[in-house]
Amino acid sequence: MPNILDGTAIAAAIKQEVAEEVRALSVRGIRPGLAAVLVGSVPASQIYVRSKVQTCNELGLYSDLITLPDSTTTAELLSLVAALNARDEIDGILVQLPLPRQVDARTVLDAISPEKDVDGLHPINAGLLQAGRPALAPCTPAGVIEILKRSSIPIAGARAVVVGRSDIVGKPVAMLLLAQNATVTICHSKTHDLPARTREAEILVAAIGRPGFITPEMVTPGATLIDVGINRISTREDFERYFAGDAKREAAFQKRGSVIVGDIHPAAFAQAGAYTPVPGGVGPLTIAMLMSNTVRAAKLRRQIRSRQG
Ligand code: NDP
Repeated sequence: MPNILDGTAIAAAIKQEVAEEVRALSVRGIRPGLAAVLVGSVPASQIYVRSKVQTCNELGLYSDLITLPDSTTTAELLSLVAALNARDEIDGILVQLPLPRQVDARTVLDAISPEKDVDGLHPINAGLLQAGRPALAPCTPAGVIEILKRSSIPIAGARAVVVGRSDIVGKPVAMLLLAQNATVTICHSKTHDLPARTREAEILVAAIGRPGFITPEMVTPGATLIDVGINRISTREDFERYFAGDAKREAAFQKRGSVIVGDIHPAAFAQAGAYTPVPGGVGPLTIAMLMSNTVRAAKLRRQIRSRQG
């Protein structure tokens, strides 16, 4: 039977550690703070940001939620980011994506001070990561490494294959695996004979954005499968393709009219050595790592040694 890697439990453990660190810092008069910037009215973004702010409250971090209208300009966001960069009680700045079309997202994200870039997307942090130096790493990729480490899955020397090369997931996860001494292959939409590459994987990370894309014949039995994908499916045909005969999911589909499937076909999990389920695998780690990054940023800015190095 494959080992199911419980992201929810791992995220809870990380959050507990963060809360302990926050308590220890409070003795020194320090309270790590996160500014969350929400522009416009995308419902999913509102849910994400609210849950990030709520987690700050639960763990004892200071948080400041700044909501701006859909009509916000690049210039207005740049002046907000400049003000947040200058505020001492703010250690992390999170600008929720996507931004409205008229906003130059790249320019806004690049304006965040690298030391407050808790999403780890600034080119300075991407460069530090690539150079193998301590940096604020993007949250979801950092979460993937936490899952592997805390589940005692050996990374050093392992053959890791990452499908996807986005700046947010694929590339940083590959860099973090390399930093842990995995032998890393990065695949993408132009890769020749993808199944041959994915079958080489002892650790296979799927960050593609296509439902059930990695099928059982693309996986070597015993591999560790890390599914970053989050895809909502809402047709009966799709449901049958991925979850035929799954009574629990059938009930959820009946109730809500849709369910989530990852980038790995659920049938492939049966032959894995270990795998992250969707939902409940990689997803919960993202907020936990955002909290961890905020505390880390607070310490780095004050030159306090962190247990992460
Ligand atoms: P992107 O769309 O930015 O990147 C997708 C990558 O997949 C690209 O590099 C693309 O290749 C590659 N790809 C697409 N089609 C194929 C194909 N046919 N064969 C091989 N490679 C292919 O997506 P993200 O990286 O932002 O997100 C990936 C997934 O992770 C999504 O499902 C997203 O929802 C999820 N996600 C989950 C998070 C979480 O908290 N769990 C956080 C962030 C994302 P190319 O570069 O050649 O186009």
